[in-house]
Amino acid sequence: MIEVSHIAKIYHSDTRETYAIGDASFTVAKGEFVSIVGPSGCGKSTLLNMVASFMAPSSGTISVNGHRVVPGQIPKGLGYIFQKDTVLPWFTVARNIGLGLKFRGVPEPEIQGKVDRLLAMAGLKDCHDMFPHHLSGGMRQRVALLMTLACDPDILLLDEPFGALDSNTKMVLHKELLDIWQQLGQTIMMVTHDLDEAVTLSDRVIVLSAPPSRVVLDHRVDIARPRDVFSLRQSREFSDHVREIWGVLGREFKQVGKEALEHA
Ligand code: ADP
Repeated sequence: MIEVSHIAKIYHSDTRETYAIGDASFTVAKGEFVSIVGPSGCGKSTLLNMVASFMAPSSGTISVNGHRVVPGQIPKGLGYIFQKDTVLPWFTVARNIGLGLKFRGVPEPEIQGKVDRLLAMAGLKDCHDMFPHHLSGGMRQRVALLMTLACDPDILLLDEPFGALDSNTKMVLHKELLDIWQQLGQTIMMVTHDLDEAVTLSDRVIVLSAPPSRVVLDHRVDIARPRDVFSLRQSREFSDHVREIWGVLGREFKQVGKEALEHA
């Protein structure tokens, strides 16, 4: 579904060149949930932005659904969720969720039906007429997820969607995301700095090295589904996966930390 082949990315500015991604290759199969982890600055968000066509790689190719990604042309069926929710404060929850459909010219009764179904699925029926400032951060992020789901994406790109939330709210949203994913079966590529989150949710965890980054581990999380996100962390197999990935990821964190200290 997503094929990243020998991607490199160098940012040029007047004063310096930043070698973000050195040489990264991997694939994400249809219906798979894959997380990308790595030290800060290794190009995780850059990678997601290139899959979404928001920016061009310096070299290498990306294909989505068999079509090469062309900068500026968002691949068909793609949904993107950012760390900061993108809910508009002057619209109600229902209008926010229906916004993408309205842009597409979908008739109003159809939009209403879809919005109601999504709100029911997420247990947010009572929030239909609320404005975003009445909602908690976790609720707003749920609304942002529903806004994206309203357009029926078959691929979801998630850029640290739960990064700003407390750990309790995060876990509730992990459960909701897994429930939705299990119902709808999208292909998901998620960037996170939270290894526990990556192991809880993913089929595979890809570890990027310190920049200029490359893939240093492609780890399969073969924990049975459905997963109970609340009890999973106490299990032996969960800790085994975290330990195995951390053995590689920790080295990369150490490398980036050492360089940061040297330049401080
Ligand atoms: P990550 O998501 O892994 O923290 P990013 O993809 O945000 O990493 O950034 C990778 C590197 O590229 C960082 O050093 C960052 O400062 C740099 N970078 C990101 N965006 C730009 C940009 N638009 N211009 C210049 N440098 C950038």
